[in-house]
Amino acid sequence: MTTQPLFKRLCLIGIGLIGSSIALRARREGLAETIVVSTRRKETLDRAKELNLGDVYTDKVSEAVQGADCVILCTPVGSFASLGERIAPHLAEGCIVSDVGSVKRSVVTQLKPHMPDHVHLIPGHPIAGTEYSGPDAGFSTLFDDRWCLLTPEEGTDKAAIEKLTQFWKSLGSMVEVMEPDHHDLVLAVTSHIPHLIAYNIVGTASELEEVTRSEVVKFSASGFRDFTRIAASDPVMWRDVFLHNKGAVIEMLGRFSEDLSQLQRAIRNGDGDLLFDHFTKTH
Ligand code: NAP
Repeated sequence: MTTQPLFKRLCLIGIGLIGSSIALRARREGLAETIVVSTRRKETLDRAKELNLGDVYTDKVSEAVQGADCVILCTPVGSFASLGERIAPHLAEGCIVSDVGSVKRSVVTQLKPHMPDHVHLIPGHPIAGTEYSGPDAGFSTLFDDRWCLLTPEEGTDKAAIEKLTQFWKSLGSMVEVMEPDHHDLVLAVTSHIPHLIAYNIVGTASELEEVTRSEVVKFSASGFRDFTRIAASDPVMWRDVFLHNKGAVIEMLGRFSEDLSQLQRAIRNGDGDLLFDHFTKTH
């Protein structure tokens, strides 16, 4: 428990897995005097209320951000431009505006044009998650010992960066500051392409003939089970990730496909040495 709340009024827009996990831990640590919860659908807002995730609830983002000293967008990346435009006129002087989106260059592109000079835009990405969605999916330990990457532009107020860093550390994370394009390239390899592979292989298996498909399920080893778990992730979130990290994903997919073709050729040609060398290299 920290002695002094870091924020007077923390506003969370979007209260799914990530938003609710922030709310639960921020409350546990006493990081905000007031937590404002905002989401677009009534049923989600009602559920957040039942779960006691905040102190104030509204479906109007323009009201939600008023007087907040920290606003965090916890919605799919494709919604940021519209949200940025709607909240901008209501943001208080000195407010930290951040997000948890899995892509970072696009966040700058979408939000920056709308942000008034008197706020501090500091995009963020907690590298923590599960395949579950919605306000019931959150848990207070989600961010423990996981990285949170912040991608502020050069010249961003240092005290604001320090405050947001402190916030994420209090949520349990380790924090690193990174350049947005670099973030997107790194995450393309470590997260986005693995998700694409999972969606693809599970899709391939589900299109097999009925008898083979049921055998895949029956005999699935842990490798395939991990893929099915990952491929159960929220389709809207992942659609937006690929639409908004197009460049880095396409570049990395190109390299991936070349390497895969080489392995395919080695299998076709019975080139055991190449396969062995490759599998040794990746140890
Ligand atoms: P989630 O559980 O599906 O919750 C999404 C929230 O955003 C809900 O409150 C939903 O509101 C709202 N929302 C959905 N579409 C919207 C739209 N078009 N406009 C406004 N609000 C909208 O999602 P999540 O897993 O917490 O992910 C949220 C963000 O965190 C995403 O940007 C994602 O890239 C990032 N992230 C996710 C993970 C992960 O593993 N899941 C990890 C790190 C970062 P209603 O229910 O009211 O419609």
